[in-house]
Amino acid sequence: MASLEQLQNLPAVDEILRHDHLAATTQRFPRQQLVEWVRAAVSTCRQEILNGRPYDAAGATQFVVTHILQQDQAEQGRRQQAVINATGILLHTNLGRAPLAAAAVRRMQESAGYANVEMNLQSGKRSQRGARTCRLLSQLTGAEDTVVVNNCAAATMLVLQSIAAGREVIVSRGQLVEIGGGYRLPEVFAASGAILKEVGTTNRTYLRDYENAVTENTAAIIRVHRSNFFLGGFVTEPDLSDLVALGRERGVTVIDDLGSGCMQDLTDLGLHEPTVPASVSAGADLVLFSGDKLFGGPQAGIIVGRSIHTEGLRASPMMRALRVDKVTLAALEATAEIHLSGDGSKELPLLQMLSKDPADICSSCERVRHQLSLPDGVSVEVTECHSQVGGGSVPGSEIPSFCLQISGLNSETLAARLRSGTPAVLGRIQDDRVILDMRTVRDAERDELAAKISSVISQLTTQDA
Ligand SMILES: *Cc1c(COP(=O)(O)O)cnc(C)c1O
Repeated sequence: MASLEQLQNLPAVDEILRHDHLAATTQRFPRQQLVEWVRAAVSTCRQEILNGRPYDAAGATQFVVTHILQQDQAEQGRRQQAVINATGILLHTNLGRAPLAAAAVRRMQESAGYANVEMNLQSGKRSQRGARTCRLLSQLTGAEDTVVVNNCAAATMLVLQSIAAGREVIVSRGQLVEIGGGYRLPEVFAASGAILKEVGTTNRTYLRDYENAVTENTAAIIRVHRSNFFLGGFVTEPDLSDLVALGRERGVTVIDDLGSGCMQDLTDLGLHEPTVPASVSAGADLVLFSGDKLFGGPQAGIIVGRSIHTEGLRASPMMRALRVDKVTLAALEATAEIHLSGDGSKELPLLQMLSKDPADICSSCERVRHQLSLPDGVSVEVTECHSQVGGGSVPGSEIPSFCLQISGLNSETLAARLRSGTPAVLGRIQDDRVILDMRTVRDAERDELAAKISSVISQLTTQDA
């Protein structure tokens, strides 16, 4: 009977929504959402009472309010917002890969309203979508022509479908990759209608394997860059130029799926990544790469190569389904202009971060550390660490860097607190400590980062006390 009285004490929706602690939450969400949350919480509370948990009116209100605040926090964690990337992973796929250049951001903003995405303003006539961007990309890579689609997966799909549907495409068993997020090459083949013809073995594939596999039903040879793993030991693969010679001789198209989209030689930075211009000059008919990996631009799939093939791609009905929007084209055009101007390492955040001197990263760490106010029992040290390229580019890359290492607090709790609220800060956990690699943190983010670390540490230590 006590429970019947308690059930009558369950709070009403409007009473909850007027609660002081929910003032900010009720501003943030539409009433319908709030009402749904309150009803769910009240119903859970009712169930608990029926199960014998004693809630008086105040207790029930507290229960429901806490539940709403948790829903609010969960929603904040899902909402897309800016993140300070202190993971040291430069191309973090979960964080949107390459950060864009300032000029690209400006151009996206300019194009957000009306923009001449398919119009030549001089003639006033309709033009091909992104025609200038495509021309710049051709100039940059040395290719005859360029087609831009939504991402590199779309590029692969479009190319296989329009060049090889119902026919065979030869690929080495050492290159039958899963790129991540369930993108598996054999499945892409199946979806495109092209027939996968595997040759060679996991570690060794010779030119003669390709030669023996070519028949009158062969449409293409595809080479797929091993962008997220590496093979060591006894590994053999023919050079792209040998595949090109074979393709020419037998009338077979040669496709190079590079993925990472590196424009310049990065060996000075200790990275051995094939470049797009090198594949074009080796004679590949079509070279495919992502816009948001080492190219340092927006998400896009860029196909460069010979016009006899690109014209077919452009005419494909799939093209309409895979095309990119005006804002992406604006960012891509700006990024291509930066590459062409030769200022990439100065103006593209990705290349800037990649070429940061570890000594400068170390002093960046020190600057942040000096701004921190730390309670007893918590320490922050500056130590060496390794950054990674990530995002399916340059597998196994370990770039010397420096980080802030926070000890004295539960690492999972600390990492979760750093991620919540604004700015959201993402670090790594290593040996049960949170580390914040400063290679991927912009100078302009340092003060915000320091303030966030101080406030989170102070919250956690005063709660403990
Ligand atoms: C990353 C990658 C892809 C997929 O690129 P998205 O732009 O993510 O679709 C395809 N092929 C290779 C070799 C890659 O590295």
